Amino acid sequence: MFPGELGERVRLLNDQPLNRRGRYVVYWAQVNRRLQSNEALLAAVELGNYLGRPIWWVESLPWPEQRRGLRFVRFLLEGVEETARGCWELGIGYTLLVEDEAAPLQELQRLLRGAAALVTDDYPVPPVPERTREVLRGITVAAYAVNASTIVPMRRFARREYAAYSMRPKLLKVLPNYLVPLPFREPRVRFQEDSTHTEIHPPSLLLRWERLGGAPPSVTFRGGRSAALQWLERFLNDGLQRYSAERHVPTARAASELSPYLHYGYISAREVALAVRSQAQEHGWDASSFLEQLIVRRELAFNFACFTKRLDSLEALPTWALQTIARHREDPRPVVYDIDRLEAGETHDDLWNAAHKELLLRGKIHNAPRMYWGKKILEWSAGPEQALASLLRFHDRYALDANDPNTYANILWCFGLHDRPFRERPILGTLRSFSRESFGRKIRADRYIAEISALAAGVHNRDRVK
Ligand SMILES: Cc1cc2nc3c(=O)[nH]c(=O)nc-3n(C[C@H](O)[C@H](O)[C@H](O)COP(=O)(O)OP(=O)(O)OC[C@H]3O[C@@H](n4cnc5c(N)ncnc54)[C@H](O)[C@@H]3O)c2cc1C
Repeated sequence: MFPGELGERVRLLNDQPLNRRGRYVVYWAQVNRRLQSNEALLAAVELGNYLGRPIWWVESLPWPEQRRGLRFVRFLLEGVEETARGCWELGIGYTLLVEDEAAPLQELQRLLRGAAALVTDDYPVPPVPERTREVLRGITVAAYAVNASTIVPMRRFARREYAAYSMRPKLLKVLPNYLVPLPFREPRVRFQEDSTHTEIHPPSLLLRWERLGGAPPSVTFRGGRSAALQWLERFLNDGLQRYSAERHVPTARAASELSPYLHYGYISAREVALAVRSQAQEHGWDASSFLEQLIVRRELAFNFACFTKRLDSLEALPTWALQTIARHREDPRPVVYDIDRLEAGETHDDLWNAAHKELLLRGKIHNAPRMYWGKKILEWSAGPEQALASLLRFHDRYALDANDPNTYANILWCFGLHDRPFRERPILGTLRSFSRESFGRKIRADRYIAEISALAAGVHNRDRVK
């Protein structure tokens, strides 16, 4: 039923049959909110065409995102009108479910009673697997999970890889089979149910969260497919050529800024990699350092999430890292901040404060100061558990690219995951460490600090796309 590459990405989740009397195939877009280059939607369309049924795209404003507050709700709602319009043009039904805390998934289960099958995203990070299991408990139709988040299907690897050096050759060997444009198929049958809720009114929905609060909207990022494509365009025309030389300098604006869009599935890594490769080939540029991040590092994080039980625990660390952390647990710490003091962004270190401010204002931190920021949280916390709790909380409350495999893999990278031992020092032991002086020079910290203060004062907005 699922030909070629698609077959490798699809997992049957239950032993229920296809409901031949069902009126539609539901695509529950938990993660991948795009109509193009979406393997999960393609699988739903293949299934619908095989059964002679239309597709119903169901997207929710999930309860966990609502709990995180205005910043996240707004980023999601900014994308829905465009998605709904795209669905309508293709003859796909569209519904936005605003989940209720008491019974978040009930409405979806009700709607699945009339379905021939359910298709959703295969995503290895909570709460997606738990929410999927919860829905499965209440339905009697076949359900499929489709890996639409990685370029090479994550389950093609048999186990957790140790680090980038062990993942890279395996990934690169098979990459040519997968790094090709995904075919696009239109549904053969148009959706005609009158029960579809096409009356979406994001502004009135937003009023509720404006009162409830949470982090304010990002000063830089707006949700949705068009915004994702504009950032990509900006990167192809400006950042890519300079990426390899200047990606460590936040004020150089050589990075793509795509992580929030990749996380919310407004754009796929496959599309980005193909566009980057073609632009680089056309101009004779070297795209390898960008593709290393987008493909090797990102897919290493998915591999970690796919084969690790507790992503938010130090137990996931390699033995050498656990040992060095244990040996230095009682080391005197000259500077200790508790979680609230860190959250307020008021430490003695202007570079750290600027990185934290970037998170509070923009909803992500450039990778170079982000590494420094994470490592210093470990150095300045009473112990590793407190440091982990702070990193998780700050991501959950402020980062638009959080709750992603990259979140957990990179937070734990601060504690040694996917890394190697370095020269022994107090507190961090043999974990990699960063010095304010030399690292600050390398990333041109002075310019970064000045730019973030200007951003905080509202004087200068880091080229928000329109
Ligand atoms: C402590 C810490 C926490 C982090 N938390 C997150 C997170 O919550 N979500 C997140 O997406 N990234 C996280 N990262 C990784 C990295 O900082 C971001 O992916 C990057 O800054 C996103 O900006 P960009 O899209 O401009 O990246 P670019 O440099 O333009 O890279 C393009 C894409 O490649 C991928 N990528 C880049 N760097 C990495 C990396 N080190 N590991 C894996 N994939 C990478 C991302 O998908 C990124 O969008 C974290 C890093 C650290 C040190």
